[in-house]
Amino acid sequence: MESGRDRAMLQDVKLNDEPGRLAALRSLEVLDTPPEEPFENIVALVRTVLGVPMAAVTLIDEDRQWFKARSGLGVSETPRNVSFCTYAIRQSEPMLVNDARLDSRFAENPYVTGDPNVRSYAGVPLLTPEGYNVGVLCAIDDKVRTFTTSEVEMLSNFARIVTNELLLRRIAERDQLTGALTRRGFIEKAGQEIARFRRYGRPCCLALLDIDHFKAVNDTYGHPAGDAVLREMVASVVGSSRPVDLLGRLGGEEFALLLPETEPSDALVAVERFREGLAGLAIPLPGGGVIHVTVSIGIAPLTDRIVTVEEWIAAADGPLYTAKRGGRNRCELLH
Ligand code: GH3
Ligand code: MG
Ligand code: MG
Repeated sequence: MESGRDRAMLQDVKLNDEPGRLAALRSLEVLDTPPEEPFENIVALVRTVLGVPMAAVTLIDEDRQWFKARSGLGVSETPRNVSFCTYAIRQSEPMLVNDARLDSRFAENPYVTGDPNVRSYAGVPLLTPEGYNVGVLCAIDDKVRTFTTSEVEMLSNFARIVTNELLLRRIAERDQLTGALTRRGFIEKAGQEIARFRRYGRPCCLALLDIDHFKAVNDTYGHPAGDAVLREMVASVVGSSRPVDLLGRLGGEEFALLLPETEPSDALVAVERFREGLAGLAIPLPGGGVIHVTVSIGIAPLTDRIVTVEEWIAAADGPLYTAKRGGRNRCELLH
């Protein structure tokens, strides 16, 4: 296996392009997402294998370091100016600190002078294929220590796994048939929206769409025709929504549409437009001819009572049921 050093030499590492680096980080769409198993496992492994009390996968955002996974560390993010990792991403080599009190960059750092009393640090940059250090996999000790070559080598291999996971997790975000977000992708993005809502108090609505009598479409025209309907409907909704709106296929023929920065009354207007558009859509069948389908929609505004995306979806399920019972091909807003 090639070492971190070899890789850095093989690859053009762009250390002085902060806008490009931030764009690479943003394109991973990982900031402010909930904990995920692969990253949790790796920090747990780093702790065990290197015998350190603290380990983390950090991502260096414009003015903060945010932890995708952390073990033995109390906070979910810190300002960038007190971050060790912000120094690590400025180099292509692993960054090693044996005694932070003797390092002018860190001697006065609050995490050194106070809790959790950082003494030693090993950080390997997370290098993307385009050559940007978006974050760091780091091992931290509250004791002075010298990390051995083989420990640094192991950390470098783990860092490579972290980067691969960061790239892979995005593939599973898109549904193959329709190109909409998968349930998992949607839940993650909607979760970020909840976090933003909490931070800035912005309005946001979620619309739950279910195709009417879809079983009959399959039964009458066959499953490929049903698939064509799903594809066309997604294309239609995506084509007529704003770029910030997120469409997820939650499963089968049920979709969720997230409308950020949208008050409930405006959401109702927008969603009515989608509903009418879909009802008027002549969908070509694989075997020739066209069909028309309709959707029923329930809308739930985000409120303080909603904590998880699942709760938000469940909140929209009530009005969706009302829309179905009320005759289908209609929208209902949760009051
Ligand atoms: P309702 O108006 O009450 O929603 O009636 P419905 O027939 O649409 O009922 P329901 O929502 O329960 O139907 C779901 C159907 O969607 C069942 C299944 O055959 C079909 N379906 C789910 N996933 C797919 C898919 O990927 N492709 C196709 N062609 N059909 C699917
Ligand atoms: Mg359904
Ligand atoms: Mg249905």
